[in-house]
Amino acid sequence: MLAYLHIPFCDSKCHYCAFNSYDNKSVLKQNYMQQITKQLRYELEKFNTPSKSIRSLFIGGGTPSTIQALWYAPFFEMITPYLADNAEVTSEANPQSATKEWIEGMRTLGVNRLSFGVQSFNAQKLTFLGRNHTPKQALDAITSAANLGIQNISLDLIYGTALDTPALLQEDLNIASSLPINHLSAYALTLEEETPFFKRTDVANGSEELAKDFVHAIIQAGFPQYEISNFGTYQSVHNKGYWEHQDYLGIGAGAVGFLKNRRFYPAKEIEAYVQNPLFQEIEKLSLEDLHVEKIFLGLRSMIGIALASFSPKEMMQVSILVEENKLTCKDHRVFNTDYFLSDEIALFITQ
Ligand code: SF4
Repeated sequence: MLAYLHIPFCDSKCHYCAFNSYDNKSVLKQNYMQQITKQLRYELEKFNTPSKSIRSLFIGGGTPSTIQALWYAPFFEMITPYLADNAEVTSEANPQSATKEWIEGMRTLGVNRLSFGVQSFNAQKLTFLGRNHTPKQALDAITSAANLGIQNISLDLIYGTALDTPALLQEDLNIASSLPINHLSAYALTLEEETPFFKRTDVANGSEELAKDFVHAIIQAGFPQYEISNFGTYQSVHNKGYWEHQDYLGIGAGAVGFLKNRRFYPAKEIEAYVQNPLFQEIEKLSLEDLHVEKIFLGLRSMIGIALASFSPKEMMQVSILVEENKLTCKDHRVFNTDYFLSDEIALFITQ
């Protein structure tokens, strides 16, 4: 079982961001942090959660480091008995707000992995993206985290912006590789609706060659790829559990939960969530929905798909793909050989 806590607050809004996060609702922070424990208690009961059964807790956002560590204490007090002994406990953090005090405070509560929203070490690119931190703040925050004893550190990079050249991306990667990290996520810039970047024709560089070369360079730099956007000598328990369709508790505004064949959707707006953190809409998934999702998730990652789960019709398509070396077969599972083609392959199998 996994758990996810959503922190929908940010210090500023990046130009490309469509996440459920706000930079003008700080006044609700304290109330929000009180309400999440109410929902957590409710979810622990609903999931009938045995003690020590949660293998991974992920605090994401938004920007979890905009909330002082002390305000997480009641949440951790409640969830800690349910965490497995060696559970992965990750928090996302932004360089400008992940101070030494914050990192130390979160480490004391039980966080053992930090994932930094760096995006680039190029000052001009950071400004272009609307990030409110400097390259130096990113270097300092990551170094501090390692010095304070956080062993598993990840950072996010964005590629495919109009400013990107092979040289710029290589420089980002060189700096990332010189840091004490064992995981890296690289995301292609996407132009999302209702963001300042949407409909702009001068912000993205959609070159497939640039993307492929960058992914290749990341792997060459010593970060093996284990999913379309994730690389590292350390593979996140949380990511893998999610792709394997494990049950997960979703805590916070808009944080989706999943149990067997049902998804739970709490209120997305912070105000509505704070008013009633126990409200949820429920979506029932059919066996067919789950099956198709498993194929898409399995092909985007090293999880692969069990041969036994394919229908005879799908199996015919899979055989064609194996013959064309687009899929490999091992231990009664098939694996994708090129994550860039994952959605196309999934559609070919399920058509
Ligand atoms: S810090 Fe992250 S969540 Fe917040 S606005 Fe920027 S990209 Fe979005």
